[in-house]
Amino acid sequence: MVSRVIPVDPFDLVIFGGTGDLARRKILPGLYRRFHDGQMPEGARIIGAARSEMDEAGYRDFVRGAIGEFVQKRNDKDIVDAFLERLTYVAVDAKGTDGWDELAHAMRPDVIKAYYFSVGPSLFGDIAERLMNHGIADDEARIVVEKPFGHDLASARALNETLARHFDETQIYRIDHYLGKETVQNLMAVRFGNMLFEPLWNAQYVDHIQITVAETVGVGGRGDYYDKSGAMRDMVQNHLMQLLCLTAMEPPSKYDPDAVRDEKLKVIRALESVESDDIVRGQYKSQAESYIDDVENPRSITESYVAMKVRIANWRWNGTPFYLRTGKRMKERVSEIVVRFKEPPHSIFEEDTGQSANELTIRLQPNEGMDLTVTIKEPGPGGMRLIDVPLDMTFAEALGEEAADVPDAYERLIMDVIRGNQTLFMRGDEVEAAWAWTDPIIDSWTVREDRPHPYEPGSTGPEEALILMHRDGRRWRELRT
Ligand code: NAD
Repeated sequence: MVSRVIPVDPFDLVIFGGTGDLARRKILPGLYRRFHDGQMPEGARIIGAARSEMDEAGYRDFVRGAIGEFVQKRNDKDIVDAFLERLTYVAVDAKGTDGWDELAHAMRPDVIKAYYFSVGPSLFGDIAERLMNHGIADDEARIVVEKPFGHDLASARALNETLARHFDETQIYRIDHYLGKETVQNLMAVRFGNMLFEPLWNAQYVDHIQITVAETVGVGGRGDYYDKSGAMRDMVQNHLMQLLCLTAMEPPSKYDPDAVRDEKLKVIRALESVESDDIVRGQYKSQAESYIDDVENPRSITESYVAMKVRIANWRWNGTPFYLRTGKRMKERVSEIVVRFKEPPHSIFEEDTGQSANELTIRLQPNEGMDLTVTIKEPGPGGMRLIDVPLDMTFAEALGEEAADVPDAYERLIMDVIRGNQTLFMRGDEVEAAWAWTDPIIDSWTVREDRPHPYEPGSTGPEEALILMHRDGRRWRELRT
């Protein structure tokens, strides 16, 4: 099965920070893949804009290198050459005057204009202001801003206010790349496109929900940034929160940006504050490898792991907890949402037949897909013995390899920017509500000087996180790929 590729309208996309790590690893390779698949029309152009002095040829070489390194399939020399023809470069100083006239000159009047702010948030205001002063951002222009969107509620508010001075909310695309993942959108399709799940999707039938984002890497070269942030700010406030919202929200009346985002916002506003007993913080530590060495801060009490039990105060979820966990240097790289249903109210089978509860797992990585465990009779003559079997909905198996070759989250999101579709981007009030819930949790750690529990690198996290579940008679799903 081959998915349809519908070309977008002609555009000028300016990537501020076009020589940076994110542009090199994600944005430019993603744009190349969209070009390769025929989604970029004749009139589509990409303009790299960054501090480095570089000419057009130099930038094209840089992008060729990025494609060589980060595009595995579709790396075809003629197509790469044709793609590079679409690229140009302007050296600009976001905080000064250099390069802005040249950039204004490079922009064409009658095409969609999109400005990707792939730079630190301290430059957002400077760039927004200069775009306006140079008259190159019309009412239709879009800006894309990267995470982190603030460090707390006050800084997120300040950023929103800065952007709002120059742009309308309908022009601002705040990226959370988790929302661009195929399975995340599939979660909405499964919930709202079938009769099967939604009637059961509530506290009456769901025992609990687990959301896991486990990484095997440590803090790597980002130690300085990470140590000021920690897992709560870096992962929970944004990525896990978005997954929680899509899992818990009420059906929107239509699949439209504000209808979906209104429902997500209601979930965030219904989150109860979290008791300190319901949170476990961890920091990886062993003789050979430890977080404090990686961030070069021996006194750091920043968490590289966090697990928590979250409650949503509304009719649908009263009594059904959501357990969230995320960490670095864990055993496996796994991102998934697990919906654990309740056991049938009465069993007609004998006690030890092996009956258990259904589980729907929505896997974001690796092997994007879903599976649902169903209890059946174990085949054979051994009497009525029950086993759980997965109804596997891995895309590769169900739809063929080609359908499994889905666009990377960044590719999809950038194309949505050009189309002017904000559904998969965070609205300003959503981000602020998420910080408003997160801030008191972090503040309470600061007041208490809370120290994270050590855990072995390559493990499943600290012991205390297992106890958090055991206390409720539940257990984390095993981390497996
Ligand atoms: P980077 O340090 O690798 O690149 C920064 C880019 O900004 C460079 O192109 C540099 O020339 C440009 N720049 C810096 N100061 C400038 C100025 N005064 N004028 C013009 N250009 C200037 O950073 P990055 O890793 O690419 O990250 C960019 C943004 O994306 C950051 O906000 C980061 O938090 C966010 N982000 C990055 C990643 C990632 O994987 N790298 C992931 C998520 C979010």
